[in-house]
Amino acid sequence: MIQRDRDETDLLSQDRLMNHSKKLYTEELFSKLHQLQQLCAVADLNMSLDNAAEVYRIVHSIKGSAPTIGFKRIGDIAQQMLSSWHWARRVSLTAVLAEYDDAYIVQLYRGSTLASMPLLCALEAEIDASAIVIASLQQEASPVPIEGQGAHTEPPGASRILIIDDDAGLRNYLAGRLELEDYLVDAATNVQEAMTLLRGGSYHLITLDLMMYPQSGYEILHLLKNDRATRLVPMIVLSGINDTEDKVRCLDMGADDYVSKPFDYEELSARIRRILERNREYEMVAFRDPLTGLYNRRFFDCQVEVELNRMTRKPANISIALLDVDHFKNVNDTYGHQIGDLVLQHFGQLLQKSLRSSDIVARWGGEEFVVIMPNTTDSDAYKAIGAILNKVQSTPIVTTGERSFSITFSAGISQWRSGLTVEQWIQRADYALYKAKHLGRNRMYKISSKLRTDQTAASSESVKKVIVAEDDRVLRMIMVDNLNSAGYQTLEAHNGEMAYHMLMSESADLCILDCIMPVMSGLQVLKRMKDEGSRPASTKIMFATGHDLSDTAKESLALGADHFITKPFSMQDFERKVRSLME
Ligand code: GH3
Ligand code: MG
Ligand code: MG
Repeated sequence: MIQRDRDETDLLSQDRLMNHSKKLYTEELFSKLHQLQQLCAVADLNMSLDNAAEVYRIVHSIKGSAPTIGFKRIGDIAQQMLSSWHWARRVSLTAVLAEYDDAYIVQLYRGSTLASMPLLCALEAEIDASAIVIASLQQEASPVPIEGQGAHTEPPGASRILIIDDDAGLRNYLAGRLELEDYLVDAATNVQEAMTLLRGGSYHLITLDLMMYPQSGYEILHLLKNDRATRLVPMIVLSGINDTEDKVRCLDMGADDYVSKPFDYEELSARIRRILERNREYEMVAFRDPLTGLYNRRFFDCQVEVELNRMTRKPANISIALLDVDHFKNVNDTYGHQIGDLVLQHFGQLLQKSLRSSDIVARWGGEEFVVIMPNTTDSDAYKAIGAILNKVQSTPIVTTGERSFSITFSAGISQWRSGLTVEQWIQRADYALYKAKHLGRNRMYKISSKLRTDQTAASSESVKKVIVAEDDRVLRMIMVDNLNSAGYQTLEAHNGEMAYHMLMSESADLCILDCIMPVMSGLQVLKRMKDEGSRPASTKIMFATGHDLSDTAKESLALGADHFITKPFSMQDFERKVRSLME
């Protein structure tokens, strides 16, 4: 009974939607027809290929969309017009250009517009008639769902679909039908709008109109498939072209399906369902960690980009936390790998259920976990993770029979600041975790937010600039953090070649130059500058070398280094040497 009511309501809504879309569509058709008439008039006086392409484009789009909205006869007329244009099957007309000369094209064009004239008149009459029918249908009382503005609150797990189509009537109709099936729908009318929406939100599927203007659907297909954040989103191309070459091209470019316009909604809807279902199954395999059921590193890598894109569009606070179980090796060694696995599973569950549903919890690898916390400052993240730390300190993580197992963990927290890349942001959390471990474990560390960007420091003359050339990421972070806290501006080089170029171009006050680095060693950098006589006089150089390489330290001084420091060094030693060189 309830089902029947629902079916009837749906049918009513579909009818209303169809009428509303038809109304929108007739308005659009009028303007297209007007454009066509003007173009044809101009073409008789001043024929140009651009005009020809434009006429073809308009008629072609009418052919694809009109029958979908229920205007079968208009679609037929457009089809007949197109068949007199068989030579211009490509909208761009580039293929035509390559094969024929201009005079021939002018002749063809004249011929085909003439042949199309009676059809153009038929089209006009048909559109007029439709408008009259539509006008009589306009007293619909209840509002119709308009594209992208469905009144529903988000049903759990509903799929988000993005429609990219420049045809208002078709877009509205498709959005409305999809919303009736409880999808969450957004719509874009051109490439720019689509890119903005895609950068700001995550979609489960995209339908893409191939014939858009001035930028074509191919262009957006290419953009999407080459963007890390969007390349995995399934895409159905809707196209009026319907020839094999075009289908092959789209599928080769990464489209998942190709549906020709005009299309039957029921068929499109089934294809969408199938793709979404299959993708959900794949996602379980590709993006979940089999042991804990949490998201895996691969998912994290994709999602972190999506979140940062969102930040750039609409700035807000966002933090990440890296968590690492303390002395986990001991758990395995003492109680066996199976208990180890159980501990990881329970810890994963604890994280998931203690954090907000908008937080993204992933297994980073081994006994390390990562949490992306949108709309969260580092202080709030510190509190949230702190509550979990309290819980594991006071309650065993696993109890089997009469045995229980407890753990602690260390965590590094870092809030994103504008100007940071994803890598730098994660490195800061990694460094904070390293600090927490070294301060004795079973604690959290929140990285200081003192971040100097190159621009802000460069604007103030008095800030000294230090190049930190060191390939060990963590050691580099420690030095950078220390130097930043002491008020220096820092530049990071992770190999010798980078260091060399920075020395040449940055007019730095100091360079910490590691001995063993990829591409060029610290000594090679010094030697090259000496040979070229290019060593910048105002840059002090502090060479860093392992204590088993004391000869290299001497060699570095001979090649022009001002001072050296032997690894491993204490931070006090480092600070003292930097200060003495900068005075
Ligand atoms: P620290 O406090 O410095 O983090 O010490 P730790 O022992 O936790 O760190 P370490 O990186 O030395 O050891 C991590 C251990 O985690 C070693 C590895 O065998 C274990 N491990 C990694 N993945 C799994 C897993 O899936 N299951 C189990 N049982 N153990 C794992
Ligand atoms: Mg570890
Ligand atoms: Mg550990």
